Amino acid sequence: FGGIVKEPPLHIVHIAVEMAPIAKVGGLGDVVTSLSRAVQDLNHNVDIILPKYDCLNLSNIKDFECQKNYLWAGTDIKVWHGKVEGLSVYFLEPQNGFFQVGCVYGRGNDAERFGFFCHAALEFLLQNGFHPDIIHCHDWSSAPVAWIFKDNYAHYGLSKARLVFTIHNLEFGAHFIGKAMQYADKATTVSPTYSREIAGNPVIAPHLHKFHGIINGIDPDIWDPYNDKFIPVSYSSENVVEGKKAAKEALQQKLGLKRADLPLVGIITRLTHQKGIHLIKHAIWRTLERGGQVVLLGSAPDPRIQNDFVNLKNELHSSHNDRARLCLAYDEPLSHLIYAGADFILVPSIFEPCGLTQLTAMRYGSIPVVRKTGGLFDSVFDVDHDKDRAQAQGLETNGFGFDGTDVGGVDYALNRAITTWFDSRDWFNSLCKRVMEQDWSWNRPALDYLELYHAACKLQ
Ligand code: ADP
Repeated sequence: FGGIVKEPPLHIVHIAVEMAPIAKVGGLGDVVTSLSRAVQDLNHNVDIILPKYDCLNLSNIKDFECQKNYLWAGTDIKVWHGKVEGLSVYFLEPQNGFFQVGCVYGRGNDAERFGFFCHAALEFLLQNGFHPDIIHCHDWSSAPVAWIFKDNYAHYGLSKARLVFTIHNLEFGAHFIGKAMQYADKATTVSPTYSREIAGNPVIAPHLHKFHGIINGIDPDIWDPYNDKFIPVSYSSENVVEGKKAAKEALQQKLGLKRADLPLVGIITRLTHQKGIHLIKHAIWRTLERGGQVVLLGSAPDPRIQNDFVNLKNELHSSHNDRARLCLAYDEPLSHLIYAGADFILVPSIFEPCGLTQLTAMRYGSIPVVRKTGGLFDSVFDVDHDKDRAQAQGLETNGFGFDGTDVGGVDYALNRAITTWFDSRDWFNSLCKRVMEQDWSWNRPALDYLELYHAACKLQ
């Protein structure tokens, strides 16, 4: 990367509809923030443009101020500016009420609202004399930036910019994604294995020459067991056993579980088909059978699935009150305590573009138990089966994996994990230390993005 270092800093503008921690629904929000911070740390200039939702978590925005208004398509748009996790963020507040609806997604007219936002964001850049090198848009929700830019702005005022589009999840809005793939100068998705899994999809297949899989990282400052106000004892790999013991006790106490030294399996997830619901349910029962404890933190956008889990919760809380807790909500502080207090984090996804929970688990010294798909395949190396594959990446093994979508698979991984905990505690503890010392931050992937940005800039 010697050549890259000498090049002048780039100016990158992200146009996105999620951003952690102020407007986060899933991994997309984490990635916008953490990729931007990593690229900024490498001395490039980054701005983010976001809708000004009425439900923004304002306590995490510094120096928040209303700057100016502009007019687009007959609508007055207020522009706010603030700093989020050290990043410069512009918030667009159209006076048509589009983002005064109490949520990010879930209104019948999401496509119309975000389409408006995409166009308004490009207009904001033009009217304010921005000349970014890269405009980076994400998923179906800001996909329209790609074609609106090429059709209306690339030749008028924003001619220096190149357009990068990232697919965080092809399941959502494939139609939009296909069109953005066509118009983007470069496109990425969030892990090499997922890029191969979707390469044959008709919206991707014609564009493989400009399509790259770059694994996501996590932000080591946002997820840091040495400096985390939601856990009782700070720890690093040096005192991982002590730190996790304290966190487990705090978690057990907070949730009213039996305070005992038992293997604890944590699950932190959106409860949707993608995440392997039948495997999650099965794993809960299997863990209890094996004498472990289970904590699930998750919420279901689909009311039928939510209902189903409410029933399961009632059943478990009466049959296994001291060993199982289902917390059916979105709760960021609790997620930190689970990452720290669990021995294992289970991620049995049917498909998983990258997955952040297994990476965060490892940062907190929890051992991932995953289905081998997408980014889970690229980041988790089975202690019994993947030594060579890990070594090829310069890594040691770090978890338990399984194939297939039937319950036998998850049993296979979970049984080995729990047996290791019971029968080989010292070795298990050394595994916790080992996973904490692996680097799943943006250090490496940010350089890959910079290489891609530079390659995009060189395109005619
Ligand atoms: P996806 O984007 O498909 O939801 P990822 O694994 O990429 O999955 O990202 C999920 C992110 O959301 C992680 O940071 C995880 O900790 C967080 N998360 C998921 N469910 C919850 C919840 N119920 N409460 C708190 N955080 C959650």
